[in-house]
Amino acid sequence: MAEMIGRRANVVMKFGGSSLRTADRIAHAADLVAAQARAGAPPTVVVSAMGGVTDTLLALVASAAEERLDAEALGALAARHRDAATGRLVSDDREAVLTDLAALAERLGDLLRGMAALGEASPRATDRALSYGERASAVLMASALRARGVHAQALDAAALVRTDSAFGGAHVDAPETTRRIRAAVQPGTVAVIPGFTGADAQGRTTTLGRGGSDLTASLVGAALGAERIEIWTDVDGVLTADPRLVEDAFPIPQMTYAEAAEMAHFGAKVLFPPTMAPALAAGVPIHVRNTFRPDAPGTVVSARGAGADAGHPVRGVASVPGVALLTLSGGGLFGTPGVAARLFTALGRAGVSVALITQGSSENSISVAVAPEQAEAGRVAVDAEFSPEIARGTVAPVSVETDLSILAVVGEGMPQTPGIAGRVFAALGHNGVNVRAVAQGSSERNISVVVSAADRAKALAVVHDGLFLSGAVRLNLFVVGTGLVGAALLDQIAVQAATLRAERGLELRLAGVSNSRTMAFDARGIDLAAWRAARDAGEPASAEAFVDRAIALNLPNAVVVDATAGADVPALYARLLEASLSVSTPNKVALSGPQADYDRLKALAARRGAHLRYETNVGAGLPVVSTLGDLVSSGDRIRRIEGVLSGSLSFIFATFSAAVGGGAPGATVRFSSVVREAQALGYTEPDPRDDLSGADVRRKLLILARDAGLRLEPEAATVRPVLPAACTQAPTVGAFYDQLEAHDDHFDALRRDAAAQGRVLRALAVVDAEAGAASLSVEAVGPGHPAFALDAGDNLVTFCTDRYPDRPLVVRGPGAGAEVTAAGVFAELVQIGGTIR
Ligand code: ADP
Ligand code: ASP
Ligand code: MG
Repeated sequence: MAEMIGRRANVVMKFGGSSLRTADRIAHAADLVAAQARAGAPPTVVVSAMGGVTDTLLALVASAAEERLDAEALGALAARHRDAATGRLVSDDREAVLTDLAALAERLGDLLRGMAALGEASPRATDRALSYGERASAVLMASALRARGVHAQALDAAALVRTDSAFGGAHVDAPETTRRIRAAVQPGTVAVIPGFTGADAQGRTTTLGRGGSDLTASLVGAALGAERIEIWTDVDGVLTADPRLVEDAFPIPQMTYAEAAEMAHFGAKVLFPPTMAPALAAGVPIHVRNTFRPDAPGTVVSARGAGADAGHPVRGVASVPGVALLTLSGGGLFGTPGVAARLFTALGRAGVSVALITQGSSENSISVAVAPEQAEAGRVAVDAEFSPEIARGTVAPVSVETDLSILAVVGEGMPQTPGIAGRVFAALGHNGVNVRAVAQGSSERNISVVVSAADRAKALAVVHDGLFLSGAVRLNLFVVGTGLVGAALLDQIAVQAATLRAERGLELRLAGVSNSRTMAFDARGIDLAAWRAARDAGEPASAEAFVDRAIALNLPNAVVVDATAGADVPALYARLLEASLSVSTPNKVALSGPQADYDRLKALAARRGAHLRYETNVGAGLPVVSTLGDLVSSGDRIRRIEGVLSGSLSFIFATFSAAVGGGAPGATVRFSSVVREAQALGYTEPDPRDDLSGADVRRKLLILARDAGLRLEPEAATVRPVLPAACTQAPTVGAFYDQLEAHDDHFDALRRDAAAQGRVLRALAVVDAEAGAASLSVEAVGPGHPAFALDAGDNLVTFCTDRYPDRPLVVRGPGAGAEVTAAGVFAELVQIGGTIR
């Protein structure tokens, strides 16, 4: 009884390879053990090989199989251990330690030489070679403990862990192992046990599978009836997802054995999957802790788990990188009992293990996920089993899909909680991740989906964030075009980013930026305060290359902002949308081209769950496009849209007309000088004819008309020329102004005629939905018209609809300028973020 109580106080401390990578780290681990030994009963220690050693050994074995002895690597490995046996790791036993290490290295060298001579690496010899890593670190750890005044002894795992003879992945004989461990571990001495290895009944060395030291620790803890098993690693416990793939992953304070086993089974490397079984059977909790942050609480795995009061049934998300899906389908399966049983029996006989099963609701198909290297064997076995049905044509031969990954959402009782599956699928859908198969409730504690391997990281990140970071959203932005608007946008975001994140839970991350010369990418985010420098230090740019990279990065919630003016990037929107990247664009080219392009882009965006936003195409930051969209989607019918859609034309005609209307000193101001003034103030393009030609307004008209439900080709929007032909044809801007002056009388006459009726001149754009027409022309409008009192430079749009038949809905205000346009794009991004929550 006294002995039992003594055992109860025991703690097992297991250190993984990353915690033992260098002499300093071993020393640090030994400090932790020594502290524990001083605080209570001496712990029992289980060690992995020093970080990277098992991989090195596997490489040595691989060369030996090719009749090569990599003497250099072998020497380096021995030196690595020898060099560690200095300083804080040894005291007066240094010679003995070096002798032990030398003996181990000697035996490893002999073994590898023998394997190289034969050119054969049998599983048995391989396991023997692999065991060297754990043996050597046990020697070092025991010595380091003695150097700390702790009575410690390295034991031989082959004498403790009894397994079958499945080399490379041996199964443990738990009762025998338990007996041996109980007999070997002496009270008062810290036993240092090499993990990962054991021996079969003939005493031949075996290994338990990569990562198997965790299982050794669990076996030891269970055998000793330990108070707890501590798994010391390089992260703060079992995290909600693999931190290498999901940067927002965070530690899980408590979970059940079943949840931990499920996470491990679906790829959470932090725990070797079979680890939980012995601890569960013995009722010993597993405490996963960070060697580098011993004060962090870590994760406690126990029967209790997080308990019912935790409120959130989801514990974590894990993924298996490579799987293949075998699908058996055909009408012959419908309603036939025993199909699944035959399938599994066939797979079992062929030694194929099944990671996941899904059955079509119609029972017309059944799919199983298997390891890729077992796919072919599985296919052959199942085809053979169902050969009679295949011959009759009632069942199709098994189809095999490869390059897939499984993503599993884990939590006790989760499949019974409504809404979780919905959130998983919504997050995947938004990001264009195709779900190839789903298994819900196959176990009581996971929902698993099969996705393309290329989508694995993105899928994990969006599902994780969707489940755990409710309310917080990150958009990954790709900004192409850093002229006035693009630059203003990035500068605005830089200023607002912190506030947005703190107050709205929205993080705008710049994942890529490009001008016409250079482009830069960083999936972790380009420093917004230094985006110019990052861009300039980037690689040579092209629209194609930028778009390709944005797609290839496959980031969650990705939005491309096209702040270019040309047609190159718009030509690639379809590709972006197809890949489920959203587009937010002040560039008008894409939606004002052929009607078929407009239709195609809209349909693509809808199909791929991506946003195609272009609020700033009309009226810059004014809510013109969205107001129209809201009217239409709420069921209103557009009758007529009328307005001044160009800041330059607004300025020019308002200034010109006011010169008479107000009777002010400028009464004699001529049209040509107003245009010069507009240009000087930056209201026009360098060649003012680009504005006066109406080409830009035509694009806006087309977009409004189409959004209002009209279908029309670009030529169908009529633009009555503002300028006399001679002005349009002038070869240079200078010659244009000469011609304009020569025609000033023409404009004076227009102004006089209008004024005679109490009217002013305005460049009016009209969408007449009833007539299916769109036009731009200079009109004389009276005081009853909303454009009459329009301020110079302002935009105005009036919507006349079934709900607003007499007094139109009016949007007006400054409708041009880089700052307001950028602000419009910014608002659009915030809205996109809002749709993702
Ligand atoms: P050790 O050397 O301590 O045995 P491992 O490399 O075997 O460590 O396991 C720890 C690693 O597992 C972490 O560094 C992390 O990269 C990876 N990992 C994968 N999924 C998870 C997860 N859900 N929680 C914690 N770590 C995980
Ligand atoms: N050293 C072994 C490996 O790298 C076992 C372990 O670390 O758990 O797989
Ligand atoms: Mg490990």
